Amino acid sequence: VNQTVKHLAIVAGGLGTRMSAHSGLPKALIPVGGKPVLQHQIELARTCGFEAVTIFAGHRCEDIRDFIGDGRQFGLQVTVSVEAVPMGNAGAVVENLDRLPATFAVAYGDVMMSVDLAAMARRHTEAGADFTALAHPNDHPYDSDLLEADAEGWVSAVRTYPHPAERYFGNLVNAALYIVENSSLRPWRGRGKVDFTKDIMPSLVAKGARVLAYRSTEYIKDMGTPERLQRVERDLAAGRIPAVPGNAAPAPAVFVDRDGTLNQDPGFLAKADGLRLLPNVGEAVRSLRQGGYRVVVLTNQPVIARGEASFEDVEQIHRKLEWELGKAGAFVDGIYYCPHHPDRGFAGERAELKFDCDCRKPRTGMVEAACADLGLDRGKSWMIGDQTADIELAHRAGLRSVLVQTGAAGQDGKYPASADYIAADLRDAADLILGMPA
Ligand SMILES: [Zn+2]
Repeated sequence: VNQTVKHLAIVAGGLGTRMSAHSGLPKALIPVGGKPVLQHQIELARTCGFEAVTIFAGHRCEDIRDFIGDGRQFGLQVTVSVEAVPMGNAGAVVENLDRLPATFAVAYGDVMMSVDLAAMARRHTEAGADFTALAHPNDHPYDSDLLEADAEGWVSAVRTYPHPAERYFGNLVNAALYIVENSSLRPWRGRGKVDFTKDIMPSLVAKGARVLAYRSTEYIKDMGTPERLQRVERDLAAGRIPAVPGNAAPAPAVFVDRDGTLNQDPGFLAKADGLRLLPNVGEAVRSLRQGGYRVVVLTNQPVIARGEASFEDVEQIHRKLEWELGKAGAFVDGIYYCPHHPDRGFAGERAELKFDCDCRKPRTGMVEAACADLGLDRGKSWMIGDQTADIELAHRAGLRSVLVQTGAAGQDGKYPASADYIAADLRDAADLILGMPA
């Protein structure tokens, strides 16, 4: 494979002023697992086939230069560029474009990550993007910088924090890892302080440039506060930040039905206005994720095939679902829906979606897709739902099942399947699962 992106720029300006134990140390030199975060990043770049790293260091960061030395010990070319005045997170990169190749990656110096940079760069190149940003859900979308993107990932808006109270957005957070075309940054030269999220990305979107959100669930977290550093240390010790990206152990998952399990089932939900979360579901989802489970929503949405809701209506419902969960400090790893319906012959239906598909529950297509997309360990996974189709799906897919007494409470009579466990609601189901041996 001919890899075209081989250069990583690391913006390492900040000092660890909020880190009492490491006060005065450049953030990039704060140790994680006994090794500076900067060294983790350089080693990741080399593992991903990169050949060069340029570190943009602040003026008090001579320590970084001392640490890198001639860089030979890292097995790739490492250069330290010292900025005399603070330039925002993008200014130093922009002013040094002549020393950077046509396409390169950009990371911040205070993040721990296990991201396949080569795969991300390949996607950037194949899509013909000008600017690609890694994007993922997190547990505080309400105070994060968000991207709005279509199904292919093309960004239509950058929503920087703070967000207006009356609006809601999907949980697609800019993780501040980029693949960029050198040419797309040139207009900012000579502007002084420049910010990637506040200045460059919105301006590129406004100009009609091709800005891509690269959706990924790979590990990337900043460690800018003592609490975050502690969490990253724990994740490293637990093997959640593999040195070779993609080498993380498959994760156990809890698949969760939507209507009647996460939210009230009005029998027919076609607009986001009608979405009401059931009590304590945010807490349940948060505790499952903290317990090491991925959480994935699986929902049949024949309203689309029947012509009662559009794809956009359903996407909008899911944005609101993510936003409401986010308020409770929770997020899901994926939302899969089946838009199909097998029975033809209704007024207003969309004929192209009226067929006997493989994804409509209790068929297992959505479980197969999620396992492939998210690297899930099906043998250690669960299904929670209120309908017999959810329980039948669990049997067919080899998942343990919990029937909740909300929504249909298993009284729909469609399938004879019996659940492994019964719980009052999602929180009760989460407690039950977390109390079981893995
Ligand atoms: Zn389907």
